[in-house]
Amino acid sequence: MTEEVPTSETARRASAAMQSARTAFDGWSGIDPTERSACIERMRRKIVLDRDEIVRTICAEAGKTRAEALSSDVLPTLEMLRYLERETARILEPRKAKTPLVFGRASSRVEYRPRGVVVVIAPWNNPFQLSLVPAAFALAAGNTVVLKPSPLARKTAALVGRLCQDAGLAQDALQVEDGGAETALALIAEQPDLVFFTGGPAGGRAVLEAAARHLIPVILELGGKDPMIVLADADLERVEQAAVYGAFTHAGQHCVSTKRLLVEKPIYGTLLDRIANLTRSLTETGEWGRVVDERAMAAAAEQVREAVADGARLVVPDDLDRAGAEPTLVSDCSPSMRLVQEETFAPVLAVLPFETDAEAVEMANDSPFGLNASVWSGDAARADDVVGRLRTGNACVNNVLINIGNPHLPFGGVKASGFGRYHGPEGLRAFCVETSVLASRSRRRTEPNWFPHDDNMAEMTDELIELRYGEMSRWQRLTGWIRVGRKLTRRGKNL
Ligand code: NAD
Repeated sequence: MTEEVPTSETARRASAAMQSARTAFDGWSGIDPTERSACIERMRRKIVLDRDEIVRTICAEAGKTRAEALSSDVLPTLEMLRYLERETARILEPRKAKTPLVFGRASSRVEYRPRGVVVVIAPWNNPFQLSLVPAAFALAAGNTVVLKPSPLARKTAALVGRLCQDAGLAQDALQVEDGGAETALALIAEQPDLVFFTGGPAGGRAVLEAAARHLIPVILELGGKDPMIVLADADLERVEQAAVYGAFTHAGQHCVSTKRLLVEKPIYGTLLDRIANLTRSLTETGEWGRVVDERAMAAAAEQVREAVADGARLVVPDDLDRAGAEPTLVSDCSPSMRLVQEETFAPVLAVLPFETDAEAVEMANDSPFGLNASVWSGDAARADDVVGRLRTGNACVNNVLINIGNPHLPFGGVKASGFGRYHGPEGLRAFCVETSVLASRSRRRTEPNWFPHDDNMAEMTDELIELRYGEMSRWQRLTGWIRVGRKLTRRGKNL
């Protein structure tokens, strides 16, 4: 961790960054969305050219293997940028809305306008993607951005800043403000127009509290305890590979890493043996990466020790002292264990048996978190039925993790996993103020609902309610409309 600069200096720097971002907003927000998309395209091209340096930096700071950095940090970022290039102008087009007859002759629309300055607070675990993608969504929508990266990923964040410059992004439209929690809070005190936070529940709560003081909207992308539900009719060869990948790639340090393996009883023993063998081989290769945060590793080890003391079985590794520091498989867990309930930001997979689909759903939902989930079955209808009953922000059928990378799907959590969305059209519009406009085409001097609010107006409105919502025949409704229409015209003439 880097040392924090004194409070007054932190506040001064935060204030200067926010001021520059506000100034830059005037220019950047006025640019046509297609020009903003062209800038995103230049960023994307530059990433492809600079990807060796980007990957080296990610690997050094986030403990990833080259394959993991390329496949789950760089590639998804490129997919998201290309999505923004192609879709921004269309998604931000004003949307026509209906205008019910009682509102008179008028047209209605929704406009998607930039919010202003967005503070993006990023974690270390996917330092490139989780800094650049929210920033790019904010920029594409016409906002300017102050990025507060993790102190563990300053070099990656510096590359993001350089990339924006090289792509010709307007001066100060994206600034990187290094520092820890104090810097994040100093930026929020400057009253940005939106805070986009990705990180753990404790930081999320602190950010939400700070933003609440100024009534600033917040999008929170927090932790998870993702379940993988394996039904007995699933393809077990695929399942064993998926479970080991989902739980242990990047040493289990994805927010959407698989953490709870729920297995239908008839295949429980067989599947556990197969996954145990695969886990042992993976440990030897080192392809799973390394645990970066020592406190998270210690917390995971403690959760495993406690679970084993309460009756769970440590399957891999052989030695309890290595649990949490390398791929760890713990079977026969029970739902109330801390290992099953709390976030574990390390390579640990807890395994639990279930008997019925209903029990699997109940176990999966018995969690403070609701980020991602996967359901495995050879029967698509059965899998969909289980997915439909999960309290989760996102879900996959017969695959793991991959859904977070689909730019067309909005992403975000429920419960303690956060709220708000990014990715997809909903995710781009989340960075906008939705301004609703009703434009009247009436040439009348006055409107029926304006003053005077006399008995005549009350009766007319009463009749209107009866006509629109009362029970009557079609003939009664038709004649009623003619009667009310005449009254309205007479009232208009008399006023
Ligand atoms: P973290 O919460 O420690 O830090 C994230 C960011 O918040 C950093 O920039 C940090 O400096 C800042 N921060 C931390 N405490 C703060 C506070 N009290 N006030 C203001 N700012 C604060 O998280 P991390 O260790 O960097 O990342 C791991 C966590 O992030 C895990 O819980 C993981 O599940 C979560 N995560 C979630 C998603 C998602 O999309 N939902 C994605 C990646 C990571």
